[in-house]
Amino acid sequence: MAAFRCRRDPCGFICLILTYFSVFYADYVVIQYVLIPAYSGSVWCTLHGSVFNIILFLLLACHSKAVFSDPGMVPLPETAIDFSDLRSQSNRLNDRGCEGWTVCSRCETYRPPRAHHCRVCQRCIRRMDHHCPWINNCVGELNQKYFIQFLFYTGMASLYSMALVVSAWVWRIRSEREGDEEKEGEEAPSKHLIVAHYIILLVESILFGVFVLVIFYDQLVSIITDETPIEQMRNRLIKDKANNSQPSHVAHTRKPKIALLREVFGRGSILCWLFPLHSTPPSVGGISYSALPDYDV
Ligand SMILES: [Zn+2]
Ligand SMILES: [Zn+2]
Repeated sequence: MAAFRCRRDPCGFICLILTYFSVFYADYVVIQYVLIPAYSGSVWCTLHGSVFNIILFLLLACHSKAVFSDPGMVPLPETAIDFSDLRSQSNRLNDRGCEGWTVCSRCETYRPPRAHHCRVCQRCIRRMDHHCPWINNCVGELNQKYFIQFLFYTGMASLYSMALVVSAWVWRIRSEREGDEEKEGEEAPSKHLIVAHYIILLVESILFGVFVLVIFYDQLVSIITDETPIEQMRNRLIKDKANNSQPSHVAHTRKPKIALLREVFGRGSILCWLFPLHSTPPSVGGISYSALPDYDV
């Protein structure tokens, strides 16, 4: 069920509004100041307009899924759990196959391996990557796919709009040289306004394009190495501590890269990875879940 998950984070709200504004502004400039003047009457106008809007539609669809999906919140227990005897039991519990489960003192619940507490969401999130203000949500086990798709389509939209603006600008300069200015008539927007929109859209596209490229790369590396940024930091600390005394016991994954990618993007065809479709949660790693592990509490 896609429940509305609204976080009271002012930064998250501002980023959401900025995202929607940037998308609609880019669409407005591309149609109004790029396609209509430069490609009017040509089949390219319809073609570029359709492709660009399909990319924006997919971008917004992935963004909505990332915003409103459950990132993998660890459910809270219905009744308070007594953790007082936890230490004495911990070894015995690990023998039962609950290794890696920890206790969150803030949520007052048990959480599965790789879950971490988010201070903004005030909940523990399974395989938490980071809290992203651009989606006003955590990036976790269940919505990482949508987040990466959102980055992918933002990168594509940025590249596409850059190419369209540059080609329209070149066309404008050429037509000015050839003395076609009079053809545009009195109703055409002023040259300065058009150039201002071109520059703003170019800057927007470059900023967002570079930003999402860097995060997209980080996300892929974190999937392929099977380490979230939180785990990378923790493992680095463990390594540093154990550096001189004993060999590091940091476990590196032996899973093939494609299996790790399928855990995030689903087991369907690679083509399905491009769309914000619901995929069956990964069974690898035993994430079948209940609020309480098999503990004596
Ligand atoms: Zn927690
Ligand atoms: Zn969060």
